[in-house]
Amino acid sequence: MKYADLHVHTFYSDSTFSPEEVALCAHKKALACFAVCDHDCVDGIEPCQEAARPFDIEVVPGIEITVEKADAEIHILGYFMDWKVDWFQSKLKEMQRSRLDRIYMMVDKLVGAGFPMTVQDVVKLAGKGTVGRLHVAQAMLKTGKVRSIKECFDKYIGFLKPCYVSNVRFSPRESIEMILKAGGVPVLAHPDVTGKDEYIPELIECGLLGIEAYHTEHKAHVVRHYETLAKRYDLLVTGGSDCHGLGKGKVLLGGVRVPYTVVEKLREASEKVKHAYR
Ligand code: AMP
Ligand code: ZN
Ligand code: FE
Ligand code: FE
Repeated sequence: MKYADLHVHTFYSDSTFSPEEVALCAHKKALACFAVCDHDCVDGIEPCQEAARPFDIEVVPGIEITVEKADAEIHILGYFMDWKVDWFQSKLKEMQRSRLDRIYMMVDKLVGAGFPMTVQDVVKLAGKGTVGRLHVAQAMLKTGKVRSIKECFDKYIGFLKPCYVSNVRFSPRESIEMILKAGGVPVLAHPDVTGKDEYIPELIECGLLGIEAYHTEHKAHVVRHYETLAKRYDLLVTGGSDCHGLGKGKVLLGGVRVPYTVVEKLREASEKVKHAYR
């Protein structure tokens, strides 16, 4: 049986893993396929494809876009987009610029809260990747004022916490339409982490086609809940580990995986999208 992990980050966003490390890890886990889903960034796709080729592992082009409602942070995954097209790339550049602006605002707040840190500390940790809150948390840890990444998010930089700054350039509809227009399949990431099922019908109305029922943070009863929901709304069911290398403590890659048939269903869905939107 062939398996795929459909939610993997690289150091082009906030994982500590290079494409080579991701590919080697996927090989060790005997995966036939993985999807690169970096935050607001597609730069890791081609390097992963190259790194995975010697192992005969297929790399699905993906992305994870953050959107917000007043009371919810929602992550939308996209699969099989024509990610090289100019308009798509320039929208991502816009998102990446706003991510950096946001880091300035968050570091200001954190300095005010007593963290001796600079934007440069955070940007250095991000390296060539899109900068994000996991880098902020890593810089906070270095000050010795907090003991864990979890503490950083729970007390300071989690959604709507005192040092949180929103990073949203596009609405849920605009983000879903952006994926569809690029011929990709929009999928709701880790719905239980978001914890706001009430927005699912609205997202479906915007064009959502799938739901990530299998995820590292989803317990068995949660998986069953989202499988039932997927059936009710006729959504594809996907899954992945959301591996960030060592960025979240331990390496998760391959810990959540789905049968390769899911990849085939996503590919078929993307072909339908490409016909419908052209
Ligand atoms: P950003 O793209 O800057 O919004 O940061 C997103 C990253 O922060 C992702 O890796 C999330 O999994 C992580 N993250 C968001 N909220 C939390 C939380 N409460 N605890 C740990 N990590 C989180
Ligand atoms: Zn991340
Ligand atoms: Fe996410
Ligand atoms: Fe993710």
